[in-house]
Amino acid sequence: MRPTDILTLTPAGLYCPPGDFHIDPLRPVPRALITHGHSDHARPGHGAVLATSETLAIMAVRCGEGFCATQQTAVLGESMRLGDVTVTFYPAGHVLGSAQILIEAGGCRIVNSGDYKREPDPTCIPFQPKACDVFITEATFGLPVFRHPPARDEVAKLIASVALFPERSHLVGAYSLGKAQRLVALLREAGHDAPIYIHGAMERLMALYETLGVPLGDIRKVPTGKEAGRSTFAGSIILCPPSATQEIWSRRFADPVTAFASGWMRVRARARQRGVELPLVVSDHADWEDLCTTICETGASEIWVTHGEADALVHWCTGRGLKAKPLHMLGYGDDEEAAAAESEAPVASQAAAESETP
Ligand SMILES: [Zn+2]
Ligand SMILES: [Zn+2]
Repeated sequence: MRPTDILTLTPAGLYCPPGDFHIDPLRPVPRALITHGHSDHARPGHGAVLATSETLAIMAVRCGEGFCATQQTAVLGESMRLGDVTVTFYPAGHVLGSAQILIEAGGCRIVNSGDYKREPDPTCIPFQPKACDVFITEATFGLPVFRHPPARDEVAKLIASVALFPERSHLVGAYSLGKAQRLVALLREAGHDAPIYIHGAMERLMALYETLGVPLGDIRKVPTGKEAGRSTFAGSIILCPPSATQEIWSRRFADPVTAFASGWMRVRARARQRGVELPLVVSDHADWEDLCTTICETGASEIWVTHGEADALVHWCTGRGLKAKPLHMLGYGDDEEAAAAESEAPVASQAAAESETP
């Protein structure tokens, strides 16, 4: 069987005719396999949804219990037969519950990675490279300028800043699914035991991570309305969705040090544009080197690039004798981390302009 007989691009996203299902569909479909809970991949309104138990739980929190008609749990590493294909979910290391999906049919193996990263993350199971013929990859940070430093070093910068400015609060913009919990877990690993305050929009996902076995320590919602009191949160770390750092909500905090945890913080212009005083380069996506390494490790001879900076990665692949093509999948990448790229100057030119900076 040819790979394009197994997976084909439709307006709703990647579709598997012999298995009769879509992967991470962009619009409602009868049967969807979902790689992870970010809103650009996990949309409500499908008939049947097959995903890991964590992803199903995240979807229920974000989209409501009735996010689909029927749910089926995929157990990591356990193969299932769907129509004429076999599918197996494997960990992707991106956020809690995130999975790659292996599809096997007629001797051909295709892995759709969803979003992934290779850097250790205490909140989710590490990515496992799987041998395949076709590897479908994202390319959110698919330019050589993107090199993510160890997240622990970035978190150490945050802790050092809190120690240096005890009279100031530290307001950290972080995406509410994955990044926020990872930051908390890394802060705890580094010995920061103090209460960590969160914006109300993060409350339910924080609680869900705890329920699903990811310990986050003393997490407190920033009180609002009559309960707000006079606390200015001096010396405290407060996590909030990136947009909230600019909102009225943030005015109550004592002379805040504004931080933002994102792979985009590697581009200094981004940090300046957002008025970020303390950029923290922490990403839940693979950087350039990890994208290339992963492609090699899968042994795939053909690479499909779903979204992000596809051109540079496709070029890199063809230079190594691999067959590669961009899928130009519009609709992905407006989650969370990738969203920071939108409505700002093109990444490629901005990053290129800075590629000489140390
Ligand atoms: Zn994602
Ligand atoms: Zn994505």
